[in-house]
Amino acid sequence: MIQIPRPWEGDRAEALWAVYYFLLYKTLPFEPKDYLPKDQDGFYYYKNGDRTKEKVYPDAPDKTMKITQGWKKKLSKAAIPIPNTLEELIELVSPQLHDYLYQKGAVRREHLIELLTTQTDGQTIQVHHLEFAADPDWVQLLLTTVFPYARFSRKPLFAKLVQLMGVEVCPYCNRSFTTTAKGRNGSYHRQNQVDHYRSKSKYPWFAVTLPNLVPACGNCNLRKGDDDDSVLYPYLEGFGARYQFHTTLKSAAGYLMGEMVSPDDFAVEIQRDPAAGPVSDPDYEKRVQTSIRKFGLDVLYRQSHNAYVCDIFEQRYIFSDAYLDALMDSFPDLFESREEARRLLYMKRYDADALGASPLAKLTHDIDREISRLNGEKEP
Ligand SMILES: [Zn+2]
Repeated sequence: MIQIPRPWEGDRAEALWAVYYFLLYKTLPFEPKDYLPKDQDGFYYYKNGDRTKEKVYPDAPDKTMKITQGWKKKLSKAAIPIPNTLEELIELVSPQLHDYLYQKGAVRREHLIELLTTQTDGQTIQVHHLEFAADPDWVQLLLTTVFPYARFSRKPLFAKLVQLMGVEVCPYCNRSFTTTAKGRNGSYHRQNQVDHYRSKSKYPWFAVTLPNLVPACGNCNLRKGDDDDSVLYPYLEGFGARYQFHTTLKSAAGYLMGEMVSPDDFAVEIQRDPAAGPVSDPDYEKRVQTSIRKFGLDVLYRQSHNAYVCDIFEQRYIFSDAYLDALMDSFPDLFESREEARRLLYMKRYDADALGASPLAKLTHDIDREISRLNGEKEP
């Protein structure tokens, strides 16, 4: 589990929000004035995901609330009058959500925007009071009618949104690429799924909330399921330095003397760094354990990357620090630091603040540090 940058704050934030709001505009049943951003003149200004000079609020697309025949039947069977308005429908499913979103029959713009743009980690939703009780019989109505993720994600522009999020490697397993590539004909190829950090079934009011959407690999998305135990929220937290991969190599002496390490000699484990000190945040530690269990990280890493780890050992032996020093002396303009020279060995970025740049970057980072420790080097 690695932490990834929050795309809604980075370089591409403006483009990302523009695409996001345009998708909302195409799919949300609320009036555009209830949630679309205003520029300094007080007007909505996005069109086709780009800024437009037209200083007008767009007409709402067809905002007639559509309740499917199936739902109408179910409601009739339960002797519940069919809601006539969006507000009535929300009140039927969750009076709490209704009171949050409406005041005297009007949508509370700040609250609707908050619901769509707030981070969905446990602490934030607690502070903002974004947990609502909902009638289990009707809660799915929110998903089909009010926060319609299926419609939202079917729009061609959705792929552009995912691409702008810039998540290149699955944050949950750090093993698979999650690229979105633009083809020659302008269409997008997505090698990812989009996980709902808070599940659609339990938190349907976050179904189209941008910070609740996490591009991930299909396996992790499937494995995560939607039970209540929270995994780490990748936009805020990862294993970091506190949890590290290490090898169960019995004797380091062999390696240090240049003996070949065989993939059968050891396993890879995830352990809490003994130097991390006492547990200060039990909830974090619990989320770590839940993440390991749900994504099967201990199982996936135990044996499957041993040959790769052996390569790291070998490379570190051959490209010893003396060798790196010589390399840096020979090409003084090429490397700014020993870290940079060492990056060349693995042909990938593995520095702690860019673990999302390549698959297995966290494993590479941790094993590299383990070897440094075995060599008696100081921590960088
Ligand atoms: Zn994954």
